[in-house]
Amino acid sequence: MYISEMLKSDKVTVSFEVFPPKAESSFDTVKTAVNELNNLHPDYMSVTYGAGGSTSKKTTEIASFIQNELGTNALAHLSCISSTEIRSSGIDNILALRGDMPQNGVLPENMEYHYAWELVEDIKKKGGFCVGAACYPEGHVECLNKTKDLDYLKQKVDCGCDFLVTQMFFDNNVLYTFLYNALKAGIDIPVTAGIMPVTNSSQISKICALSGTSITPKFRSILDKFGDNPAALKQAGIAYAVDQIVDMVSNGVKGIHIYTMNKPDVAQSILNSLSSVFGRDN
Ligand code: FAD
Repeated sequence: MYISEMLKSDKVTVSFEVFPPKAESSFDTVKTAVNELNNLHPDYMSVTYGAGGSTSKKTTEIASFIQNELGTNALAHLSCISSTEIRSSGIDNILALRGDMPQNGVLPENMEYHYAWELVEDIKKKGGFCVGAACYPEGHVECLNKTKDLDYLKQKVDCGCDFLVTQMFFDNNVLYTFLYNALKAGIDIPVTAGIMPVTNSSQISKICALSGTSITPKFRSILDKFGDNPAALKQAGIAYAVDQIVDMVSNGVKGIHIYTMNKPDVAQSILNSLSSVFGRDN
């Protein structure tokens, strides 16, 4: 089923992001986590695509496992940097991305696409796919002018993008301002909010520095107080994510995408706390 169709529903759509095995970890470990996540009945699961080729071949395999063996809709991420061709195996939802810069900061010479809009345009031309793209409530880290960044986002939408998934954010007002400005710019496709339940303090500082995501004073206090206490940070990080989601659903946000980091217990805690909020009581 196309995700764009799901997002038309009046119900809140709840989805999970997972990542495929890294070079050193096994398929079985990831499949076990994906299986447990699937038991929580997400509306769909997205599978990331590793820049620099690290995990790229494995994306399709995990996405295909989700789609064909678990019977849950899969959204395969596809990036310009690691890929020169579009592949699929029974998967009809693609998140078209430029991709993270390789660690050496040098783009491969033979890149067919340089921006996500080119990938969106090409996939839509081929037909038969529902295509999503990334958006950045705080602006993309490489684009210093937010108005221009929004113009580029509009370009992706004009190329046929069907829905958007946001980068994580810790201040809901940043999302609401972004949604207002996006609508004003003519971006009227569904936007799903990406939420990261934080359970690891050093990891989140690194991710925020790379992605340009701001850490709010309220969230900074949590990191300062519980950064050295993994059990407490996990509880506080989940509680913060739950609080963000309740506020968003109360304010009419209909798509919630949880960056699970392949941790079923974290996703389960959130879903258990919010079953009525999500309208999933029965
Ligand atoms: P684009 O939309 O191409 O934008 C990249 C930059 O170029 C921006 O600064 C934009 O303002 C600028 N730009 C766009 N169009 C133009 C133009 N016409 N002229 C000049 N400048 C332009 N990375 C991965 O490697 N694998 C993943 O699986 C993955 N999943 C993600 C999922 C989500 C929900 C999000 C939010 C991000 C994900 N990323 C992933 C990270 C993403 O690849 C990076 O943020 C990347 O730096 C930008 O990708 P994009 O698709 O947004 O690029």
